[in-house]
Amino acid sequence: MNDLQKQIKDRIQAAQRVLVTSHVRPDGDAIGSSLALALALVDLGKLVQVVLSDGIPANFKQLPGADLVRTKAGGEFDLIVSVDCSDLKRIGAALDGYHAPDIIIDHHVTTEAFGNLNLVESEAVATASVLTRHMQEWGLAITAPIAANLITGLITDTLGFRTSNTSPECLRQAADLLELGVDMSTLYYRSLVRRTFVEAKYWGAGLASLERSDGIIWATMTVADRKAAGYIGNDDSDLINIVSSIDDAEVAIMFVEQNAEKTKISWRALKPNVDVSQIASQFNGGGHKAAAGAELSGTLAGIQERVLEATRKLILPHK
Ligand code: 5GP
Ligand code: MN
Repeated sequence: MNDLQKQIKDRIQAAQRVLVTSHVRPDGDAIGSSLALALALVDLGKLVQVVLSDGIPANFKQLPGADLVRTKAGGEFDLIVSVDCSDLKRIGAALDGYHAPDIIIDHHVTTEAFGNLNLVESEAVATASVLTRHMQEWGLAITAPIAANLITGLITDTLGFRTSNTSPECLRQAADLLELGVDMSTLYYRSLVRRTFVEAKYWGAGLASLERSDGIIWATMTVADRKAAGYIGNDDSDLINIVSSIDDAEVAIMFVEQNAEKTKISWRALKPNVDVSQIASQFNGGGHKAAAGAELSGTLAGIQERVLEATRKLILPHK
């Protein structure tokens, strides 16, 4: 075991009260990784709170341990762990009044070392894959409920084992987790396939907004669209996965208006030689080569102009 692994193990074993957190608008990897770690710590008799600034979306509420999630921390902790989050800002309000994480566990190329101990394995398909690699060496057993959470992270970050970074290792990890008695088809259906009528209506607004020029496809989802559809939440309800399946472009972008001053951007590279994490970093965001995001301040129209211009510049050499 290397020094970092040993230090992480020692901190985990010594802690009594642990706060586990992740990023705003949590996805399946953020939630699956948080709950997997939390349940393993609970099994060791520790007091654990999972604090997610935006809570837990409906499609993940049935995951084992979901009842541990709250939107505000309460009490004192001797260990704070952040999973699947690339910078302190992206934790949102979850750590208001608390110190920065003691340990960060992540897989984003753009991750800043904002913790005391930083385990960032950027070639891993998901933070759940990093945890699956190391939990046992830290003295954390993987039970069936924990496996269900880990496999949810693997499934969602690889979009059902179809992203280009899907590796033999991640498929082996999934196979090992399945052997613990996980109902993968149900988890797959709940996290990637099933949609509510309201979500479909909201998608309709996003799809109606589609535009394309200079090798870029983009869609816009506004606060008014969410209100009209009755969609609760401030994300794109994963419409980016549909938009990025459209052929004939280099990059797909999703603009999700948060309020009059803020818009969330998602980029997806549609060709293997485009690295969208570079553009996201220009706007103080981050992510991976093929999928990245940022949150920008300004009017929606102004933001769209800036983002489209920067994206055109990035893809120019590839055209
Ligand atoms: P999405 O576009 O689905 O929100 O995120 C795509 C990838 O970019 C994910 O790995 C996500 O963690 C990362 N990402 C999205 N938004 C941000 C952001 O505002 N800041 C940073 N650092 N990473 C982001
Ligand atoms: Mn992830």
